Amino acid sequence: MTHVIVVGAGQAGAALSARLRQQGFEGQITLIGEEPVAPYQRPPLSKKYLTGELPIDRLYLRPASFYADQNITLMTGCRVERIDRAARRVITPRGPLAYDALVLATGGRARRLPQALGGGLDGVYTVRTLADVDAMAPEFVAGRHLFIVGGGYIGLEAAAVARQRGLTVTVLDASSRILNRVASAQTADYIRAQHLAHGVEIIEGETLDHLTGVSRVDGALLSNGRQIPADFAIVGIGLAPATELAEAAGLDVADGITVDALCRTSDPAIYAVGDCASFPHGAGHLRLESVPNAIAMAEAAADAILGHGTPYRPNPWFWSDQYDMSLQIAGLSTGYDRVVSRDSDRGKSFWYFAGARLLAVDAVNDPRAYMLGKRWLEAGLSPNPAHVADASRELKSLGTS
Ligand SMILES: Cc1cc2nc3c(=O)[nH]c(=O)nc-3n(C[C@H](O)[C@H](O)[C@H](O)COP(=O)(O)OP(=O)(O)OC[C@H]3O[C@@H](n4cnc5c(N)ncnc54)[C@H](O)[C@@H]3O)c2cc1C
Repeated sequence: MTHVIVVGAGQAGAALSARLRQQGFEGQITLIGEEPVAPYQRPPLSKKYLTGELPIDRLYLRPASFYADQNITLMTGCRVERIDRAARRVITPRGPLAYDALVLATGGRARRLPQALGGGLDGVYTVRTLADVDAMAPEFVAGRHLFIVGGGYIGLEAAAVARQRGLTVTVLDASSRILNRVASAQTADYIRAQHLAHGVEIIEGETLDHLTGVSRVDGALLSNGRQIPADFAIVGIGLAPATELAEAAGLDVADGITVDALCRTSDPAIYAVGDCASFPHGAGHLRLESVPNAIAMAEAAADAILGHGTPYRPNPWFWSDQYDMSLQIAGLSTGYDRVVSRDSDRGKSFWYFAGARLLAVDAVNDPRAYMLGKRWLEAGLSPNPAHVADASRELKSLGTS
């Protein structure tokens, strides 16, 4: 193995390149990214970078000197156009590059509103890249009205920032409630209450007819006929995994680029990691959109490339910050049949069970509940749900089975 090419200079691509060097790989590493900047962290884009608390230099994952020091060739502002699998080359605007192993770490793109619904109007933004957030930042002026389409984590984080900065905010979610795809009704109720207390208007179970305006957005018309004026809009309706290179190259793609337990695509010389990749999980496949998954999967793939891989089995976790709420999530709640909530001094936690088996925990301002829940999940242990609900019992004294 002499040359590893990584397409996508984001969280996963950067982690994979660093891991190869940490593990003693002495061959050539080329990290190619479409964005014009070195790899950076995305989570602050809808949090402290948007509030202005985190300066841009703190966004970068590594100091500028890191790539040269590690002998990693970083090519920014370079979009890989095609994979020539037969010749083991990628085609870029700067010419073809030959690989021994290729890694697709292409992440995904924010889903946009169709043009017919006003998605192409000026003043309508998505939140995926640094460029997206730099473009919308001047719109965050106190007294203006922000209309947000989508009550997922990114939409709600943007709502919290906007309220903190004195804007009027309306959030529209077409499903019956916010966070419908990712959290229980109990967690959503708690988070909704915080937003309402901060003066956000949340509209659930209503659809958007279209965003109004001639060249620039000036409001939203809902399907029930209600008109809402707005100075600008954010669309937070999810991510489309970037699979186009893989598809065009004839690799297996379903929801994301399909990989095996060693992160290999249907071509064993090509790996896929992070938000774009769908890995074996239980009886099926799973695609996760989170920093911990991007890093852990990248490291698993690097080890596999170097010939000492082990099957990738993540312990999922995630976080979201809104106002003074720090939400930490461990596990995957899919398939739960009951949620037990538990109050603590400073926060609250929500425990997801399938029968007696613990699946996940959402902890708001309760790092102890998060840590214990995470530890139990990783060990395959479950506390008694009735005991969890009883706040008079110390969590750490609870027995598990
Ligand atoms: C606003 C926001 C807030 C978030 N908050 C959290 C959070 O609180 N906690 C959490 O765990 N996760 C959070 N996430 C998710 C997390 O950032 C992603 O899961 C993570 O960045 C995925 O890393 P990745 O490397 O797979 O993809 P990305 O970081 O998206 O990197 C992929 C890169 O590949 C590039 N690329 C794509 N195609 C090509 C091509 N053909 N040629 C060259 N380059 C290409 C893209 O331009 C991009 O730079 C958040 C994401 C966003 C956008």
